[in-house]
Amino acid sequence: MKIYNTLSRKKEDFIPIEDNRVKMYVCGPTVYDYIHIGNARPMIIFDVVRRYFMYKGYDVTYVSNFTDIDDKIINRAFEEGVDAKDIAERFIDECRQDMEGLNILEASINPKATEEIDGMIDMIATLIDKGNAYVTEDGTVYYRTRSFKDYGKLSNKNIDDLEAGHRTIQVTGDLKEDPLDFVLWKPMKEGEPFWESPWGKGRPGWHIECSVMSKEYLGNRIDIHAGGEDLIFPHHENEIAQSEAANGEPFANYWMHNAFLNIDHKKMSKSLGNFFTVREISEKYDLQVLRFFMLSAHYRSPLNFSDDLMESARAGLERITTCADKLEFLSDNSHNPKLTEDEKELLEQAGGFTKKFEEAMEDDFNTSDAIAAIFELVRFCNSNTSNASKAFVQGLYDQLSMLCDIMGITLKKEKEILDKEIEDYIARRQEARKAKDYALADQIRDELLSRGIQLKDTREGVLWTRV
Ligand code: AMP
Ligand code: ZN
Repeated sequence: MKIYNTLSRKKEDFIPIEDNRVKMYVCGPTVYDYIHIGNARPMIIFDVVRRYFMYKGYDVTYVSNFTDIDDKIINRAFEEGVDAKDIAERFIDECRQDMEGLNILEASINPKATEEIDGMIDMIATLIDKGNAYVTEDGTVYYRTRSFKDYGKLSNKNIDDLEAGHRTIQVTGDLKEDPLDFVLWKPMKEGEPFWESPWGKGRPGWHIECSVMSKEYLGNRIDIHAGGEDLIFPHHENEIAQSEAANGEPFANYWMHNAFLNIDHKKMSKSLGNFFTVREISEKYDLQVLRFFMLSAHYRSPLNFSDDLMESARAGLERITTCADKLEFLSDNSHNPKLTEDEKELLEQAGGFTKKFEEAMEDDFNTSDAIAAIFELVRFCNSNTSNASKAFVQGLYDQLSMLCDIMGITLKKEKEILDKEIEDYIARRQEARKAKDYALADQIRDELLSRGIQLKDTREGVLWTRV
């Protein structure tokens, strides 16, 4: 399997640290508002990376954090007159709801920055002991950037060029030794949340959070660290400087970064105001369509959001689900149970699409080509299933469903049960009860329950509720 590694700037063979195990960390959102669909891009992409590793038999530990303390959270809390904690908790819940709609597997662990402060204090103390960090008079702790000789290796920046850029924007009154130094711990400001530390009351800087949460749940050295490409510099560069100086060993073997989701060819972002939230999109589309749209491009290519592309994603997805529905129907209604010799051969031929799919995924997760292989399978199914045996259509369905599952696409639509249908069920159950066929009556009740409808027998009649 080949992965493009931002660190080496080339595709490399994936070799795990431990056999059959993948330890990955994906930088998560800062929770001060609903997530926008740009934020959903890394969530979807790295969920597919994880699913593919699982398909290949790896045991994946997937850690993704919530940054739940930050200036933006504090500002919003001030505006609303509530605690920063309330804002963070509210938007963590909203984010989880969006992720569920996008069919993103729950992370193995979702650490929150505010629950990991002790680890941050430990790592900062280690960095001070080792001479990689220092405390200033006002209680700020800075990382001594020049003390880390590999600084710039991820973003391919030369430290002297960086210094020249920084000089012009140095803030007066700053107590840094060097304009390149960045904050590990900042002193408390009046009215803001704080934690006790050996350097006084304050809160951690953003970069130290991820170094510590990754170490806490995955160990010093991990296989994959991922996020959007805007995180390469300074966030990930600084994470490397912190982790490698503190732990004395390399941090992540592979660094993966997704390109931006754009709108009118400009990055979608909160600060530019050109964004749609996932919640807004969910009012217009099934979120599977958004997921399918994101996967239609390779993750390292910029992707422009438009109604046209969403419509074509909707149509594409429908072609796949319609094919799956047809296969299911054929399987339920076929009169020949057994595979014929010809069908055996056809199934083998169909296996070629799985091979194509795998080849695309093994080439740095080319989901665009992988989806093309799924469409080829759909075409094949549509033209080879007349008078087919049950075993044959079931075989095709299983293959299609397996490939879609790696993409996180669910084929079985939860078919909304209509009120009329429920009333029919209830009438049939009443008849069964009248005829003292309680087994049938119970069976009908259970069937309804499995479709989310609960019955309650009352004196006035049968009441039902959606559960
Ligand atoms: P943030 O909450 O800004 O830290 O972003 C959370 C994640 O979303 C990070 O991995 C960002 O790189 C990513 N991200 C933010 N905006 C976009 C965008 N327009 N396209 C793709 N990824 C993005
Ligand atoms: Zn991070």
